[in-house]
Amino acid sequence: MFKKILIANRGEIALRIHRACKEMGISTVAVHSEADASALHVKLADEAVCIGPAPANQSYLNIPAILSAAELTDSEAIHPGYGFLSENAKFAEIIKELGFTFIGPAPEHIRQMGDKIEAISTAQRIGLPTIPGSCGAINTIEEAISSAEKIGYPIILKAASGGGGKGMKVAHSEGALRAAYNIARSEAKAAFGDERVYLEKYLQNPRHIEVQILADTHGNVITLGERDCSLQRRHQKVLEEAPSPILTQKQRDKLLYTCQKAISKLGYLGAGTIEFLYENGEFFFIEMNTRLQVEHPVTEMTTGVDLVQEQIRIAAGLPMKITKNPVALRGHSIECRINAEDPITNLPRPGTVTDYYPAGGPGVRIDSALYPGYSVPPYYDANIAKLIVHASTREECLKRLKRALDEYIIGGVTTNLPLHKKVLNCDAFINGTYDIHFLESFMKQED
Ligand code: ADP
Repeated sequence: MFKKILIANRGEIALRIHRACKEMGISTVAVHSEADASALHVKLADEAVCIGPAPANQSYLNIPAILSAAELTDSEAIHPGYGFLSENAKFAEIIKELGFTFIGPAPEHIRQMGDKIEAISTAQRIGLPTIPGSCGAINTIEEAISSAEKIGYPIILKAASGGGGKGMKVAHSEGALRAAYNIARSEAKAAFGDERVYLEKYLQNPRHIEVQILADTHGNVITLGERDCSLQRRHQKVLEEAPSPILTQKQRDKLLYTCQKAISKLGYLGAGTIEFLYENGEFFFIEMNTRLQVEHPVTEMTTGVDLVQEQIRIAAGLPMKITKNPVALRGHSIECRINAEDPITNLPRPGTVTDYYPAGGPGVRIDSALYPGYSVPPYYDANIAKLIVHASTREECLKRLKRALDEYIIGGVTTNLPLHKKVLNCDAFINGTYDIHFLESFMKQED
């Protein structure tokens, strides 16, 4: 097992990885920007190295600085967390070349799944159902129109290198497609440095359901149930739950079996998430994330598996602790993403935390790097905490969540805590029938 791991991330996820390491007897090295000198992940780590100024491209995305920090501290392995460099195949490659271990999958799998067009053709090859679409990049408006006619409107234009819910445009007619095509390409180029776009059937009322998998070097490939991430705003997840309230056990078994077979065929190693849209009883692959997900705690709560510790064991070449497939599931878990953001514009709202009272009690977990007096910097993601609850049934889980949301106090910073409280009182959420559009229409009614 590794003696020392460098954590190439910040905020709650850096802390989460630190905690897993400490429980495994592994020393931790935090890296941080100048703006994060007083962050909790820096305070708690065994060692800390400043890797540059506040902007992420000069610090958390600065590969030479991170590798120098690893060299300087004699770290053996690097955990990238999520976001930043976690899906950068080049980063994973260089780490390996320099003799460190990357805690994540092989660079070729990161590359393959990072390109959404290649990911879809790979998914088809390994037996995952995909959405009717252009089967490759669209290079001219004529190609786009002919492909859309075959698929049928509405369609969605997506960026091949897209992510974070960005770079998608829906068109309900040929006129709308003509208007959107060039904009989609130039936005994709500006945001992701890759103008390639592709086209998919736009599903009208789907749910977002994803499967967590783990695979080790000893041939074990396991599924850890699904997460329902249909509560979204601007194609970004706001609340996640496990299991999905709408799947039957038969549907779940079939989905998990398909994913297990597909991942075995791919020869993938480490943790991964296969994302699907679900509509009218059918699943359609949309993408695979080759890293730990923000919402991984709901899987940990319903399986009892520490996903970060398993990632570390896998990277060290050890068999996973848990190898029985599929992993047994217990109870229900919900995660609320608490963001420091403007309730109307959704833009990050930095500020200094005055009072801080985290919720507690049975079945409550908070993953956060907040503390009283902490200043939320304006440079990074708006997520400042995740409130996760677990109970034996969904009904009890909802009651527990309501109680925990009422207890949780984050003073001095504008957050979306009030929004979560409102959602909890909404029928479509309570009875579990909501789809990916529910939150946005609910917020419009509230205005
Ligand atoms: P990203 O990588 O940017 O998160 P995804 O492909 O994972 O993009 O899609 C994010 C969200 O966008 C989905 O959860 C869903 O809400 C919506 N979406 C994506 N593809 C489609 C589609 N074909 N039809 C309807 N909604 C879609």
